[in-house]
Amino acid sequence: MIFYHPDCDLRFSEYGIEIPIVDDRASHVFSSLKYLYPFLEYTDTTKIIRITRADLERVHTKDFMNRLFGSAAERQGEIYQCYELVNDQGNFERFNPKNQKRDWNELLETVLLQVSMTFNSTKYALDHGFSYYLGGGMHHAMSFAGRGFCLVNDAVITLRRLQAEGVIKTAWIVDVDVHKGDGAPEILKDDPSIKTFSIHMKEGWPLNSGSLRDPWFIPSTVDVGIDYGEEDQYLARLEAGLLDLEEICPNPDIVIVVNGADPYEFDELPSASFINLTKEQMMGRDKFLYQFFKSRNIPQSYVMAGGYGQKSWEIYLQFLKYVGENSALSQK
Ligand SMILES: [Zn+2]
Repeated sequence: MIFYHPDCDLRFSEYGIEIPIVDDRASHVFSSLKYLYPFLEYTDTTKIIRITRADLERVHTKDFMNRLFGSAAERQGEIYQCYELVNDQGNFERFNPKNQKRDWNELLETVLLQVSMTFNSTKYALDHGFSYYLGGGMHHAMSFAGRGFCLVNDAVITLRRLQAEGVIKTAWIVDVDVHKGDGAPEILKDDPSIKTFSIHMKEGWPLNSGSLRDPWFIPSTVDVGIDYGEEDQYLARLEAGLLDLEEICPNPDIVIVVNGADPYEFDELPSASFINLTKEQMMGRDKFLYQFFKSRNIPQSYVMAGGYGQKSWEIYLQFLKYVGENSALSQK
C-alpha cells in the first residue's frame, strides 16, 4: 500500500527556505505509479489516526515540546535551528524571509501530519506486510531538539506509540539514507526494545563535526560506514550488517526502513556526494532489503527520507514498480 497526499508535502520554497529538495518528488512518484496502478488513491487525511502531544512526549523532552508549541518566537527559534537558517554570525543562511508565504505554524502542522502518515502507514504494514509512505524519514531529530532538517523523529514516535498500544514489543529501524541516522540512536540509547542500523558515508556527516562526545556520534546498534570509492562493496556490507543486527535482535515485530535515495550518483546535495551508487546499484539495494525482510516475515514500512535534485524520484519509482510486480501494492 502507498500512503500519500500532496497536503503532507513540505514545500520548503513556500517558507522561503532554499534547500535543493525538489518539492514535487513525492507527487511525481505517485502520479507515475497511478498511471500503472489506476486503483491507487490519495490517502484521506481526514480519516487517518492523528499523532498527539502525548505521542511526541514519549520521544522528545518536555522542554523541547514546550518550546515547539510555545510562543511564536520560541517556535521560530526551534525551526531556525533545525533547518540551520541562521549562521554563526547571526545572518540568515539558505533562507529568504521575503519569499515566505506561509507561517511556521503551518510548517509544524505539516510536519505533524507527516508523522501521522508514517504512523498510519506503519500500522498498515503491521497487518499487511508492506507499506510505503511517500514522505517522512526525519532521522536526524534528537530527543531534545530538531536537527538536520528533521524537526521530530517520525520513526521513533511511531514505534513508541505502537508499543504503547501493545501491538508491538520490538522493532528495527534500518536506515539506508546516505547520512548517518543519528537521531534514533540518541533517543534510544537506553531502550533495548528498538534496534537501529545505519549504512552511510563514513566521512562528511555529521557536518561541523565537533566533539566525538556530541550526541550525534552515539552509535547505532550496527553502523556500516562506506568510504569514498567503496561502492562495489556496498551490497555485501549491507547484507553483513543486517545479519549482525539479526544476531543481536532476531525477529523484530516490525522494521521501519529509512529509504533515502541520496546515495544515488545523480543526487544533487553536496553533502551527499561521498557515496555514488548507480541506478542499478540503488535497485539492488532496495530489492535486497525487500527480500531480506519478506523472507523472514518481518512487516516492512518505508519512509522516503533524503533524496535531492531532479532525479531522485526515479529511485523511489523503480523500487515501487518492482514491489508492484511482486503484488504488494494491493488495494485496501
Ligand atoms: Zn540524507
